[in-house]
Amino acid sequence: MVKQTIQIFARVKPTVRKQQQGIYSIDEDEKLTPSLEIILPRDLADGFVNNKRESYRFKFQRIFDQNEKQETIFENIAKPVAESVLAGYNGTIFAYGQTGSGKTFTITGGAERYSDRGIIPRTLSYIFEQLQKDSSKIYTTHISYLEIYNECGYDLLDPRHEASSLEDLPKVTVLEDPDQNIHLKNLSLHQATTEEEALNLLFLGDTNRMIAETPMNQASTRSHCIFTIHLSSKEPGSATVRQAKLHLVDLAGSERVAKTGVGGQLLTEAKYINLSLHYLEQVIIALSEKHRSHIPYRNSMMTSVLRDSLGGNCMTTMIATLSLEKRNIDESISTCRFAQRVALIKNEAVLNEEIDPRLIIIRLQKEIQELKDELAIVTGEQRTEALTEAELLQLEKRITSFLEDQDPESKLEVGADMRKIHHCFHYLKKLLNDKKIHGTSIASSEIKDQNSQEPLKEEEYKKLRDILQQRDNEINILVTMLKKEKKKAQDALHFSSVDRSELRRSQSSPFPPGNPEGPRMLPPSAPTQAPDSSTSQYRSSLLHGKTGMKEEMSFGRQEAFEIFKRDHADSVTIEDSKQILKQRFSEAKALGESINEARIKIGRLKEEITQRHVQQVALGISGNTPAPSAPDLLEEKLRSRLQEEKRRYKAMFTRLKALKVEIEHLQLLMDKAKVKLQKEFEAWWAEEATSLQVNSPAVNSLNHMKPFPQTPESQHERSQLLSSKSDVYASKILPSPGPLLHSQEQSSPSTPLEDRIPERPVSSVPLTGDSRTDSDILAFIKARQSILQRTG
Ligand code: ADP
Ligand code: MG
Repeated sequence: MVKQTIQIFARVKPTVRKQQQGIYSIDEDEKLTPSLEIILPRDLADGFVNNKRESYRFKFQRIFDQNEKQETIFENIAKPVAESVLAGYNGTIFAYGQTGSGKTFTITGGAERYSDRGIIPRTLSYIFEQLQKDSSKIYTTHISYLEIYNECGYDLLDPRHEASSLEDLPKVTVLEDPDQNIHLKNLSLHQATTEEEALNLLFLGDTNRMIAETPMNQASTRSHCIFTIHLSSKEPGSATVRQAKLHLVDLAGSERVAKTGVGGQLLTEAKYINLSLHYLEQVIIALSEKHRSHIPYRNSMMTSVLRDSLGGNCMTTMIATLSLEKRNIDESISTCRFAQRVALIKNEAVLNEEIDPRLIIIRLQKEIQELKDELAIVTGEQRTEALTEAELLQLEKRITSFLEDQDPESKLEVGADMRKIHHCFHYLKKLLNDKKIHGTSIASSEIKDQNSQEPLKEEEYKKLRDILQQRDNEINILVTMLKKEKKKAQDALHFSSVDRSELRRSQSSPFPPGNPEGPRMLPPSAPTQAPDSSTSQYRSSLLHGKTGMKEEMSFGRQEAFEIFKRDHADSVTIEDSKQILKQRFSEAKALGESINEARIKIGRLKEEITQRHVQQVALGISGNTPAPSAPDLLEEKLRSRLQEEKRRYKAMFTRLKALKVEIEHLQLLMDKAKVKLQKEFEAWWAEEATSLQVNSPAVNSLNHMKPFPQTPESQHERSQLLSSKSDVYASKILPSPGPLLHSQEQSSPSTPLEDRIPERPVSSVPLTGDSRTDSDILAFIKARQSILQRTG
């Protein structure tokens, strides 16, 4: 058992403005427990939290300042937890902080660079690497991904996520067994045999979460996400199984609503926006106070799910994410205060070892059978009915293969059936007599030949005919199966040709086939448990549905999408990723070629060495020259070259492996960005359609227009940006409605604007398909753009 308090770490997000310095300082002098001091600016200090202090000091295990890399965060925070999970202990890492402070960045990672990948992908990579190294145990890994929103649990890996809305999915519910163990109903577990499969699942979950999110339901700030790696291990032949879970938790934004009292004074009882965080705090308070017998875990779903992580059987780590800017001071202080309480909680982690009853049953069944056999022999229990034709045939086959087996240890297993034992002796006697008659050795082929020379008895003939019929049937079944497989493969090819990236991957795969050291390098293997959700095919279908639906779009919409894409801030990211991906691909390809060359070279060197060997031996035998006592210099040279080549091969192979993971990750990031783009386009398009209809004279609607999405530094800044921009539009465009109508006519001279406004109510405007409506909206968008250009 390991007793340990919850470890707390702080991470400060890079600030946008440099002049924000001086708000905090990190004291590293106290080597053991560094502390973070938050200094209140003068104007805020007055009356802040009813209290005249000017600075606050908080202790953390370690504090990671603005420039610390993701790699450092993983090495220091996540790796130790991953190691204890590999050893069989439960682990939890949760990120806590206000929205925008870097929780998702820390747990999952940034969407732009490979080096930005967060704790989840790095931990997966680490765990799978360790599993591969350890061949002494059999490991199984499963993944689940839970989202808790408004006290309801959703399975982010449910394949139905895509087709149905959040509300229609079965809710994940908490069940408690008599031992107070928590079980989650409707949460699917997906086996992942490789890092790649696990990453795919992470991607699927994140994408599903994004798809479900609407402006009204800002799930990503209000919901909690729990990505869980379930690891079980057992030694071969043992019935003891070790099971450990690693929860990686991205909590909802911890921001609170502060009640403002008379004179703008902040009152202390700021309340969480998120109710379940409030319950989390209650649990933390109860746990950190001594002598509290009742811990209110059951008050909320999140505290029930994390029950083991808080004051239970788990090694838990908290990362307090801080965005230390002036306007975030109070939130940052409350995040730190929360962390200080969490640090008081003691957990007791135990090894989760269990005896697997299934394995015991199998072992016992075998034992019972052996005992029964023994008993039958001892008691002399006899069976009288004759052996069937099939049984006799099978027995004779066994005898033949027994006789042919070169292994002197081989046994003829017939069980404790006296009839079979007798038949064996008869058969052997017959063979022996035949051998005596013909004076030749017994070879099974000859036995058959002899038999065939004799006229076939009616019975034997029938037997052979039956076998023939049976084989025929088997062949038919196999042929049908083969046909089906072929058709499936063709369908898959057709299917994946839609997704260019998939096709590209399969066509120009730079990875050498049949690599001796890396079965994992072969094309993505199919998952074993949940074929519907974790295959890349599912992913491509998801993308096809969400991003590649241009074929189903009307021309108007397609064109609008192109405009939208061009102006979207993310398109730069997608382009950048594409470029990097291209580079990595060609690097991988070149590497693949070099690896192949190295392999050929190694083969040749091996051959040369063998030849040299044969030469030397031949010389020795012929006796013309005495066997060389000195080592053969040429052979040594060849050997050292071989060593060198092997080293090179290994180095390149390792690099290629890493490249492959990077490529896969970049592809996932890009795919995710595409889904996001499509989603935002749809929202924007629907909005345009609404404005067009609601404000029939299109001029008015410009008031309601939103600019294309930008990359804001924060939500706060975005809202400022939005309001200022729309003001500009309003003031510039409203006074002169003329040019709009003019340009409207330019884009479609024959139809007056009013005629082309769809008659149908707003709510029934379909997102796809109605090309007349679509072209109207497009014309409208274009018109507005040309005005914006003219008015500067
Ligand atoms: P949260 O999940 O807490 O709401 P995010 O992780 O989404 O916050 O972070 C908000 C923004 O800040 C994102 O654009 C993210 O990329 C960026 N960000 C957060 N932490 C860092 C960091 N350590 N380095 C660089 N960018 C960061
Ligand atoms: Mg987030």
